[in-house]
Amino acid sequence: MKGGIDLGGTKIQAVIVDGDHQVVAQARHATPIKGGPPDVVAHMVEAIREASEQIGAKTGDLKGVGVGSPGAIEAEAGVVAEARNLPGWDEPFAMGPALEKALDTKVRIGNDVQVAVDGEFALGAGRDSSSLLGVWWGTGVGGGIILDGKPWLGQGAAGEIGHIVVKQGGARCPCGRRGCMEAYAGRSAMETRARKLKKKGHHTKLFKIMEKHGRTRLQSGIWSRALEAKDEMALALINRAVEALGTGVASAVNVLDVETVVIGGGLGTRLGEPYVRRIEAAMMPHLFVSDRPPAVLPAALGDLGGAVGATLLV
Ligand SMILES: [Zn+2]
Repeated sequence: MKGGIDLGGTKIQAVIVDGDHQVVAQARHATPIKGGPPDVVAHMVEAIREASEQIGAKTGDLKGVGVGSPGAIEAEAGVVAEARNLPGWDEPFAMGPALEKALDTKVRIGNDVQVAVDGEFALGAGRDSSSLLGVWWGTGVGGGIILDGKPWLGQGAAGEIGHIVVKQGGARCPCGRRGCMEAYAGRSAMETRARKLKKKGHHTKLFKIMEKHGRTRLQSGIWSRALEAKDEMALALINRAVEALGTGVASAVNVLDVETVVIGGGLGTRLGEPYVRRIEAAMMPHLFVSDRPPAVLPAALGDLGGAVGATLLV
């Protein structure tokens, strides 16, 4: 038995898997919005404990626990820095050692997107491929690369597909630069754009749906509902995102020539197959070798994919 935790800005998902990578228990906590790293770690510990109890085990019985974390990861030391989506994470924090002490088992930390992509490569949509580009479409647009069966991390920052430039001098990206794919396709950038348009007097149901569901941000489910309601602003902003994704992903494929592209992430998973087909169609005009396009597939491991991928670290 091994444990896995997907640490996100809104939720902490924990799983326990057996030797065949099957999920035998799971627990979910909301990510605390106040406090600091020790509070986040306390909820991670609680989530793994709850999952372990479901199968009558102690955390010390687990072979280890893998964690997919946002931010910059120093894997050897288990240190997480620059995790801006997490509360009070202003300084690097030794998450690995803190978890090991509380859980009484080995802990390994990896980048959240990379472990989810590793999971899809080993067990999900990419299991028949030897090269893969993962595109994680969510709050931002993250990426992960596998070449010749191995993760390609570059000097530590490879796969930042969200910051491929799709328009010189274009829209401002949350990273501060202009024209990045994420400036058009990231959920955070799309929300900023929607708020701006609404202020200018454009009509949309997006914020009414958000309030109805007791939310303060335009999460994936809100976008999905607005699309179902044929909200014009949501349709226009998602179309713009799909075009940007097509341009950016095709550009990356022109460089890497991977066998498979997997589309995952909060929004990618929520919108699913029909939107994956639309991204594929938007890629076609930009592919240099258009008669041999890569397979473009939705992530297959679903909501638990990040946590299951994290179990592969131990
Ligand atoms: Zn950027």
